[in-house]
Amino acid sequence: MLTTGDRILSVANQTGFAVPAFNISDYAMFKGIATICEELDAPWIVAIHPDEYSHVGPDFMRAVLARANRSSVPMAVHLDHGGTYQQVLTSIQNGFTSVMIDASLKPFDENVAITKEVVAAAHAVGLSVEGELGTIGANDSYGESGATEIIYTTAADAKRFVEQTGVDSLAIAIGTFHGLYPAGMTPHLELELLMEIKDAVRLPLVLHGGSNNPDDEISVAARTGINKINISSDIKMAYYTKMREVLASHPNLREPNAIQPECVKAMNEVAAQKIRLFGADGKGALYR
Ligand SMILES: [Zn+2]
Repeated sequence: MLTTGDRILSVANQTGFAVPAFNISDYAMFKGIATICEELDAPWIVAIHPDEYSHVGPDFMRAVLARANRSSVPMAVHLDHGGTYQQVLTSIQNGFTSVMIDASLKPFDENVAITKEVVAAAHAVGLSVEGELGTIGANDSYGESGATEIIYTTAADAKRFVEQTGVDSLAIAIGTFHGLYPAGMTPHLELELLMEIKDAVRLPLVLHGGSNNPDDEISVAARTGINKINISSDIKMAYYTKMREVLASHPNLREPNAIQPECVKAMNEVAAQKIRLFGADGKGALYR
């Protein structure tokens, strides 16, 4: 069923698991992920970044919302890294049930001011807002943010930010990096810092990036305060790596229904592994 970001994350926060947020800008991938989440009875979030939204266009939303409405598992439709007040409002108008405003590259006070404005608008129509504090680096093709290094979130800043803005969930920087990691970078999650931030704010916390962080660290984080984990590069890599193979070994193939199924299968193996790693499998039952 279609649900809001607030509802999907509050249950995860009370129970101690992380909801997967899959970045989607393609119908075959969307349909595949919706199916694997139902098979594993996992609540999930469709995350659409503004660049992805420009690619799929507003009509794509109708299909996403229709699928969510008849889904056997809870699904929220989330604006990932909203950049401006106007972008957030437009997305709400187009049916998103959850929004993020990311002003994390701006100075603290400006981040607070922009986030606060978005929170007032979203709360007025019953929707929740994810803010971001600290920076998680940019390495995606759609260049999520402009940072080239991680600036860690501190517990004191997180507390101040939450109090001043009224955000419902918070993306924090504790040692993940967006996209696939630059060569020579060793990912390491600061799990103690996570606990300090969680104690200070008690809200659902969000992890962006993390493709190359060790599974055991991600697994602990998902059970000790992180309640939403974004997955983008990993599923796209699996999908297009398989597509390259399929096209190379069958140069005459041209029908999507002949090319895509194997790619979706490869993508869904990665998605299933993430869902289990986050402890989200079987959690659909908590919402019924
Ligand atoms: Zn992100």
